[in-house]
Amino acid sequence: MRVLIVGAGLLGLTTAWFLRRHGAEVQVIERQAGPGMETSFANGGMLHASQANPWNEPGVLWQALRMLGREDAALLIRPRALPRMLGWSWRFFRNSSLPRYLDAVARNARLADYSLTVLAEHLAPLGLDYERAALGTLKVYRTQAELDTAALFAERCRDFDIRYSIQDAAGVVALEPALGPVASRLSGGIHFPDDVSGDAHRFCRALAEQAQAAGVELRFETTAERVLLAGGAVDGLMVDGAVERADAVVLAAASHSPRLAASAGLSVPVQPIKGYSLTVPMQHWRVKPRLPVIDEHFHAAVCPLGDQLRVAGTAEFAGFDSALTPSRIANLYALLRHIYPDEGGEVDARQCSEWTGLRPMSPDGVGIMGRTSVRGLYLNTGHGHLGWTMAPGAGKLVADDIMLARTEIPAEDYRLARFG
Ligand SMILES: Cc1cc2nc3c(=O)[nH]c(=O)nc-3n(C[C@H](O)[C@H](O)[C@H](O)COP(=O)(O)OP(=O)(O)OC[C@H]3O[C@@H](n4cnc5c(N)ncnc54)[C@H](O)[C@@H]3O)c2cc1C
Repeated sequence: MRVLIVGAGLLGLTTAWFLRRHGAEVQVIERQAGPGMETSFANGGMLHASQANPWNEPGVLWQALRMLGREDAALLIRPRALPRMLGWSWRFFRNSSLPRYLDAVARNARLADYSLTVLAEHLAPLGLDYERAALGTLKVYRTQAELDTAALFAERCRDFDIRYSIQDAAGVVALEPALGPVASRLSGGIHFPDDVSGDAHRFCRALAEQAQAAGVELRFETTAERVLLAGGAVDGLMVDGAVERADAVVLAAASHSPRLAASAGLSVPVQPIKGYSLTVPMQHWRVKPRLPVIDEHFHAAVCPLGDQLRVAGTAEFAGFDSALTPSRIANLYALLRHIYPDEGGEVDARQCSEWTGLRPMSPDGVGIMGRTSVRGLYLNTGHGHLGWTMAPGAGKLVADDIMLARTEIPAEDYRLARFG
């Protein structure tokens, strides 16, 4: 079985690894010069089943409308991006009804839980070096009402084996002493002990190396142009003007997957949702944060990765624009100061790395994976804000779907066919 995969980000590489383990002949086509150079480069660093909720929660439309035009909005809609996103946006908001939202939470939580198991059982033994930490994540809240709502959501997640403990402000500081200076402003927090964290780009590089050693062919600076069909089934890909034949093709090209899928006659509802991150050196911090912390009030996340702190947050509907907008970056520095006012207030921007990436988002907030109506054509995209969390499980699920025609969790819940 010869399989071509488009994309050497988190999803393409994990799929390649598990396909090779099943004995497939695998080639990965990547237009960048190395692995994990696009969305998987500098994300928030958290593999968190606790964050399984899609962004289109009930009420999201009104929230978005209220924030319209505000540069500091957690969810910013750029009017110029709207025309090409209208159909998708309509579906995104339509999926925010309570029953649909809860259904999506359940599908994400199941996949996330599976993914963390796959990471522990199948990938941890490889000894990949990516600043992995297994201290859980800590969500903190600024009002009692926010904490109470979050506690209700956490209770629901117990059904998916997601463990948690509710903490008052003193408990929060005991878990993360670096939050001491803001303790009086916190109503409390929720600690999810089973979440893990790590540097996604380093993970991609390390996994790519091992995959190559195991026989996966990685072709960088090479662009897949379209899917080739013969008799209605996949025949391969057109790659830089040359025909590459294969028995199966996996599109793991993030927000670029829809364009390739369209060449095979498929409509894949994935749109780029822009996000930003800062990477801040912590060598001189007096009290270094230990835990990944999500401040739900400010929609910000901070995650220690070795001697650096990754600050990530905010979402922008801006199409494929990948410019580093100064106001959005300034926003991240402000969020950092809200969480760590002392050390965060002293950060020298010249020492920090600023980054933006395009989350590949589906309209129901659940990844789109596995087989399609075109024989031999598979997808692994649309994981949105959860791509790092889902990558191990989604990679194994797609590889199992291709090679065994059976999967360890129900694959139907994630297929393209659900969009009709
Ligand atoms: C600011 C931010 C913070 C985030 N934080 C988290 C987090 O804390 N936890 C979490 O779980 N997730 C997080 N995410 C989401 C996660 O990073 C993404 O879901 C994930 O990286 C997507 O991986 P991917 O492999 O689908 O895409 P990519 O990493 O973008 O890989 C796709 C690859 O396909 C290649 N490609 C595209 N078209 C072609 C073509 N025609 N030919 C050849 N190659 C092609 C691209 O060059 C790219 O390398 C965050 C995202 C952002 C932006």
